[in-house]
Amino acid sequence: MAKKATKEVMKDFNLKLLLKEIYYSKGIDRASLSKKTKLSPATVTNLVAELKEQGKIKEVGNAVSTGGRKPIILAINPDYRYVIGIKIGYSYINFMLSDLNGTVKSVEQKAYDQITISLIIDELKLQWQLWKEEYGIEFLGIGVAVSGVVDSINGTVINSYLLKWKNVKLAESLKMEFSVDVQILNDVDSFALAQMWKGKAYQYKNAAFLTLGVGIGGSIILNGTLLSTYGTVTEFGHITVREDGIKCNCGSRGCLEAEASFKALSEKINLATTSTKLKTAFQTMNDAESSEIDFIKRALTEDKETVLEIFREYSRLVGIVLKDIINIFRPDYFLIGGEAMAFSDYFYNDIVEFAKRNCFKGLSDNLLFDKDHIGENAWTLGCIYKVIDRDMFNSNIIND
Ligand SMILES: [Zn+2]
Repeated sequence: MAKKATKEVMKDFNLKLLLKEIYYSKGIDRASLSKKTKLSPATVTNLVAELKEQGKIKEVGNAVSTGGRKPIILAINPDYRYVIGIKIGYSYINFMLSDLNGTVKSVEQKAYDQITISLIIDELKLQWQLWKEEYGIEFLGIGVAVSGVVDSINGTVINSYLLKWKNVKLAESLKMEFSVDVQILNDVDSFALAQMWKGKAYQYKNAAFLTLGVGIGGSIILNGTLLSTYGTVTEFGHITVREDGIKCNCGSRGCLEAEASFKALSEKINLATTSTKLKTAFQTMNDAESSEIDFIKRALTEDKETVLEIFREYSRLVGIVLKDIINIFRPDYFLIGGEAMAFSDYFYNDIVEFAKRNCFKGLSDNLLFDKDHIGENAWTLGCIYKVIDRDMFNSNIIND
């Protein structure tokens, strides 16, 4: 009995090993699979037949012959299962449907006054049903990206200032309702994983990410693995940049997020400007992030000089944190993203220059700075990737 069980475990392990190799190679023949996995050609032939039978992989053509028959190329079947990702924002949920290659099939963003677990479940049921009817494909699992401190091993949102949630067992609730695997990630970690999957970050062993916008967040990949204690965040937004500065949501003062979020920028512009039109616009702003972005855009047309002065200060504050991150983690790749990149002309070069000039000598010599090229979808794509990695290959891109 024990022997049989061991054999089954071994077989399952090898099936996942082959599947992972096929997935990441983006097309490979049987002989190369055997070489890469060190499994015998006969074992590879048998297990590949089984993966094909299950519908997980397919034959996608022939490689160039090196003498004899042309080898058949195997690749993942992206339509074997689809994955649902949701990003929970302050007053919205972004619903995304993706195939196994990360091709986005559908995205829906909906706004809500208040986001609760029961609302998430109800809205997800609706979306699930709609997509099920439209695509007729089974779902592998659900990935959730949420702001705040997240225990992604147990699927619990420990503390989200933005949503005012504490110890919410989100994965458990969703698993009970939908009977599929559920992976919960901090939203910036999800953003970083998307950059590893679909961006350039996978080429680097040590990568840093800073997202600037309504909030300010960060994530770190060290030795190819997402750095996360309890699957949680590196709180770069709460590094102190000004002693006795603006009071922050976290309870401290002078955090980067308190001094350089969209809210802080809008308030600073309002204080500094003499334009009555702009001051009136500030009074009519609401909580939504689009409202703050609109205000800053308006300020650029009404009183550009003031906005440029505010952005000069912004560049110094963000530059300090950038420099600190480089000194602590020594990344080879540093990606800046987030909604604030809409204004990157006014700060990006300055923050990079500041960090390069002030970080410890030599640390920026081989460091590549980059802007996010994926955009809004990155926030949700990363948690979808996590579901695929865990459920298809039993792998673990997060160090937990
Ligand atoms: Zn703070």
